[in-house]
Amino acid sequence: MSSYQLVVIGAGPGGYAAAFYAADMGMQVAMVDPEPNPGGVCLYRGCIPSKALLHVAKVIAEAKHAPALGVTFGEPKIDLNALRAFKDKVVQQMTGGLGQVQKMRKITFIQGMATFVDPRRLSVELVKGGKEDVTFEHAIIATGSRPSTVPGLSINSPRVMDSTTALDLPDIPKTLLVVGGGYIGLELGSVYAALGTKVTVVEMTPGLLPGADRDLVTFLHRRLEKTLHKILLNARVVEMKDGKSGVTVKIEPVAGASEETPLTDADKTQTFDRVLVSVGRKPNSAVPGLDKTKVEIGQRGFITVDSTRRTAEPSIFAIGDVVGEPMLAHKASHEARVAVEAILGHKTAFEPQAIPAVVFTDPEVAWCGLTETEAKAQGRQVEIARFPWAALGRAVAIDRPDGVTKLVIEPGTERILGVGVVGSGAGELIAEGVLAVEMAANATDLKLSIHPHPTLSETMMEAAEVFFGQSTHVYKPKRKS
Ligand code: FAD
Repeated sequence: MSSYQLVVIGAGPGGYAAAFYAADMGMQVAMVDPEPNPGGVCLYRGCIPSKALLHVAKVIAEAKHAPALGVTFGEPKIDLNALRAFKDKVVQQMTGGLGQVQKMRKITFIQGMATFVDPRRLSVELVKGGKEDVTFEHAIIATGSRPSTVPGLSINSPRVMDSTTALDLPDIPKTLLVVGGGYIGLELGSVYAALGTKVTVVEMTPGLLPGADRDLVTFLHRRLEKTLHKILLNARVVEMKDGKSGVTVKIEPVAGASEETPLTDADKTQTFDRVLVSVGRKPNSAVPGLDKTKVEIGQRGFITVDSTRRTAEPSIFAIGDVVGEPMLAHKASHEARVAVEAILGHKTAFEPQAIPAVVFTDPEVAWCGLTETEAKAQGRQVEIARFPWAALGRAVAIDRPDGVTKLVIEPGTERILGVGVVGSGAGELIAEGVLAVEMAANATDLKLSIHPHPTLSETMMEAAEVFFGQSTHVYKPKRKS
């Protein structure tokens, strides 16, 4: 039986970040995962393959728009095998690279599925066959999450996909129904739409991207109305039946919402070549043998942890999607460092002021810190400063004036509590917002920091100038209070 100071269960962005950091800090580490290399959902069937395909979607969209700029390309020809090969190469390169740095760090990689035997011992069912027992001083559970299904709606049909099968690009269907208007559905729906599929999105709530500020989502909604076939809000799928010509779907208005967004008879019963169910994700907290430990699972199925990510079993920590929202890779990686520091006996806690969220659609939507929606829900007074991209040279030069950068500001102190951005490349811009919120910057700090011209980053500075009624490119005198 082999024995380690730390065993990490699950090698996603939470697990491998923990294992790598622990090894860098001098610990003897093993990592258990069924895949051949570290990467987890994020690299094998999440963030990275989806962004590879979204890049292709962007290239197609830009080529399509080029005649407006005086350049005309021919109709795109899609070589599906080459497209899949590109995406698979990206995944292989990234996961293979992680495998190499894991070896360089002398971390033992055990390819298999872990079961707890007791609070200090695991049994691993090896992918190559057989079992391996491992003892540890500490373990970190980083087993991630899996796609949710709609209760009572699941049918066993190869035409019905989850995010994993959708990323495999089995074909380019003529029609696709995306069930769920969250970020995964919209990102993958956008990929298929760019490849030529007629995509319909059904969302139960009154708007896409539930939870995000509406003034940001409006920009995305407007563009998706042009690139997607149809967006049905306040509507839900109540039945799916597999047939020869496709999946026949019944869609109903959500109770009480029918008058706001009437569904036509044609909307209510439709047949699609394929259906993508993307209605959220469930934590993989049912790790076998957990009942042999004191680890507790809370009401929503997440493993319960304290601020250092320690579970109720002192030798066991948990991080990433398996411990709670937001289920995002960078949140998992940050928790990884906190857990390792706690194991090393350092004074530490997971208490970020700003976890950025990015939706990689076109335009991208990104936010961090306090949103306007959250401020309203909490009855918290905030001031909002918005800078419209239509007034910015760089945005107009790239023919993408459809964006806005907004700051959520604490009255009195002028502290930046949150930042929201919608527009081309918003996902890159939000990093400055994270820094501003984490460093407790105020609007004057942003206003006085010289931003390079002509770049989209100037929208951050100009939004701060808007707050003072002094924006160079927008005439908007500050209201006297
Ligand atoms: P995971 O990455 O889920 O990894 C968990 C690993 O544990 C898996 O390899 C699993 O096989 C393994 N495992 C489970 N049980 C056991 C066991 N008993 N023994 C051993 N191993 C086990 N996030 C972003 O931040 N940005 C994005 O752009 C983004 N895009 C996404 C797109 C899609 C289509 C999807 C599905 C997700 C996306 N996410 C994105 C979410 C992101 O993938 C997750 O938040 C992230 O992977 C969570 O990391 P994790 O370390 O908690 O677990």
